[in-house]
Amino acid sequence: MARCPDPVSGAIIQELVYCSRVPENLLTMKAVILLSDVFAYDSHLHTIYSGHSHPDMTVDAIIGQMQEVGLKQIAITEHVFVRSDLGRVGIVASQIPHDAENVLLGAEMDADAIALDGTLVAPTDGIDWVVASFHKFPGTSIWWNQDYREAKDEKTIYREWLDWAHEVIAVSKPDAIGHPGTLICHLSTVEEFDKPILRDFAGILESCREHGVAFELNELTHKKMRPLQKETYYRVFKLAKEKGVKIVLGSDSHSLPQIGRYLWIREVIDQAGLERSDFIIPTKR
Ligand SMILES: [Zn+2]
Ligand SMILES: [Zn+2]
Repeated sequence: MARCPDPVSGAIIQELVYCSRVPENLLTMKAVILLSDVFAYDSHLHTIYSGHSHPDMTVDAIIGQMQEVGLKQIAITEHVFVRSDLGRVGIVASQIPHDAENVLLGAEMDADAIALDGTLVAPTDGIDWVVASFHKFPGTSIWWNQDYREAKDEKTIYREWLDWAHEVIAVSKPDAIGHPGTLICHLSTVEEFDKPILRDFAGILESCREHGVAFELNELTHKKMRPLQKETYYRVFKLAKEKGVKIVLGSDSHSLPQIGRYLWIREVIDQAGLERSDFIIPTKR
């Protein structure tokens, strides 16, 4: 076993996993530092203005926590489910100190589930980091955690979701697709990320590469998946690497201790064999 930092925290444990994959004589501290660098960014955080985050998630407290846990940079990405939610983003913007260069104004903006034309629910002007997410079933107002069965059959939902994803990438060109695939994980037909589904993801990833859209690896995702989906999700990111699509990490924090806390994500990274060069970090527009 290669010598690694003392495995106290989750972060160190992952470094240990990585170290174990490298022959001892090739292990350098540089490799460890570069990998750690990936985890020093958090591109997906919510605040009290989401209405469903912990009351400790004020902008001030988030910035304090970022410094506390040693993150280099964050993007605060409040939900925009409908156009009027842009007001939340405006409030966050007004609370980010002007000299906070390492705090980006972001938004987790929904793709328009009724229009299905690839547009997002609101304009993105002035927002540094746009994560496009799918929280409603296509062509409906039904949320991801509600019963969709009476609205449409699963095959139709899946087909519409696939077309929709392509449209969103090509039309809106967001910075990243938020927690890709979580919506279809609610379908009973999606048992795991196996060949037919990966074939569809290959197409989505090719669109992403063409339009410069990243794939988000989201810590919260595993809580929304069934065991087999969770076990096979790494294949999506292995494919992203093969297709040359950049990956960005997001904790999707709704409370302070979750900020920059990557545990499951580290397993996925290891299973998919991702390296520092496969990632990007959020940057200002
Ligand atoms: Zn989301
Ligand atoms: Zn989120």
